[in-house]
Amino acid sequence: MTRTLSELPADLAGKRALVRVDYNVPLDAGRVADATRIEASLPTLRWLLRRGARPVLLSHLGRPGGRPDPALSLSPVAPALAGLLGTEVLFSAPCDGEDALRASRELKTGQVLLVENTRFLPGETANDEALAGRLARLGDFFVNDAFGTLHRAHASTTGVPAVLSPSAAGLLVERELEALSALERPRRPFVVAFGGAKIGDKIELLRRFLERADLILVGGAMANTFLRAQGFETGASLVEEAALDLARSILSAGEDRIRLPTDVMVLDRAGGEGERAGKVEGVENVDSVPADAIGPGMAALDIGPASRARYADALRGCAAFFWNGPMGLFEDPRFAPGTFAIAQAAAEATAAGAFTVIGGGDSAAAVRRAGLSDRVSHVCTGGGAALEYLSTGRLPGLDALTKRIAQTGPGG
Ligand code: ADP
Ligand code: MG
Repeated sequence: MTRTLSELPADLAGKRALVRVDYNVPLDAGRVADATRIEASLPTLRWLLRRGARPVLLSHLGRPGGRPDPALSLSPVAPALAGLLGTEVLFSAPCDGEDALRASRELKTGQVLLVENTRFLPGETANDEALAGRLARLGDFFVNDAFGTLHRAHASTTGVPAVLSPSAAGLLVERELEALSALERPRRPFVVAFGGAKIGDKIELLRRFLERADLILVGGAMANTFLRAQGFETGASLVEEAALDLARSILSAGEDRIRLPTDVMVLDRAGGEGERAGKVEGVENVDSVPADAIGPGMAALDIGPASRARYADALRGCAAFFWNGPMGLFEDPRFAPGTFAIAQAAAEATAAGAFTVIGGGDSAAAVRRAGLSDRVSHVCTGGGAALEYLSTGRLPGLDALTKRIAQTGPGG
C-alpha cells in the first residue's frame, strides 16, 4: 500500500513540504491556457497549508531536453496558481540552485514556492542521484501528487523519495488510484475503447487488456494500424508501421472481442495522393467510406457513422468502461463526431449505473470539449500513468514511496 497524506506525522507545522506536482500545462502567449492540472493540485496544497506546512513545488513542463528554454518556463504558472489558491506564490530559478534553497528556507507559513521546470536540467530524466539530492534539500518531507508522471523514473519522481523521508502520495494520486483500482477487477461487461495517435506506446497495453476486457472498440489512428494489419489499403492515413506485426497477433488472439470500424470518415484530397494533412492545396472532400474502400489519396481521420452507432450501442449495457485515445482528429470539427459519440455514450452508460473512466490528455480534453466531464465517473489527469497502472498494477513513482515505508517499517 502506498502511504497517503493522512499517514504522515501529525505535526507538519513549519515543515517544508516538497511536492511534485504535474503543472505540464498548455501555455499561450506566456499565459496558462488551461488550468485543469493546476486545479487538480489544489486539494493537496490546501491540505498542507491547513496544517501549517510550507509547500515547495516541483514540476516539469514540456520537453526542453535538459536545457533552459524560456518558452517552457513555469513562471506563468505562479500567478495562475496564486489566483486559484488565494495565496502568495513565489517563483525561483533554477530548481536546484542556492537561490531556490534559500527561498525554501525563507518561505513564510501561508506562502507557496514554485521552482523552475525540472527538465531544464539533464539530470531530471536521467534520474541523476546528485540532482535528486539537491532537489531533496528543498523539503523536510516529500509528497508526490503528479499522477501523470508516476510512470517515469525521474529525479523529481523516484530520485527524491529515495533520499527524502517521509514521503507520501498526494490526494490527487489517491483519487486516481481509487478509480483505476476499480477497473482491476471490473464489473462485467467491461468495455474498453482505444484510439488516438500514440500507437507505439499503447498497442502493447491494448494487448494486455485483451485478458480483462469483454469488448475492445478501436478507433483513431490505432484503427488505421489494425486495418492495415488486416491487409486493407489505408492510403494517406496515419499508420504505425512498426506495430503491424503486433496488431496482427492481437487480432488473431482476440478476434472475437476486438471491434474495428466498418466505415471511416476520410479526407480525400483531389490530386493530393500521399500528401500529409495540412499541406494540401486544392479541393478537400470529406466523405464516409467503407473501411475496405480507403483510396490511395484518402486519409481516415474519424470512425464513420455506422461505426459510431455500433460503438455507442456496444457501450449500452456495459458495467465498466475505460477509454483512452480519441476516435478521430477531433480538434477538427469535421472529424469530431466519432469521439463525441463515444463521450455521449459513456455519459449515458454512467447515468445507467456503469463505472466509466477516461484516461489520456487528449481524450480528457475531448470529453471536456463535449461538455461531459462531469457526466462520467472519473477523468484521469495522466494517460500514460493510467495505462501503465491498469496493465501492470504498478508505477515507479509509487514504488519509490512504498520502498521508503518498507525501509522505515510499517506505519513509520
Ligand atoms: P491521449 O492523449 O488521449 O492519450 P493520444 O495522444 O494517443 O491520446 O492521441 C490524441 C491525438 O490523436 C489527437 O490529437 C487526435 O487528433 C489524434 N488522432 C486521432 N485519430 C486520428 C487519426 N485517425 N489520424 C490522425 N490523428 C488522429
Ligand atoms: Mg496525447
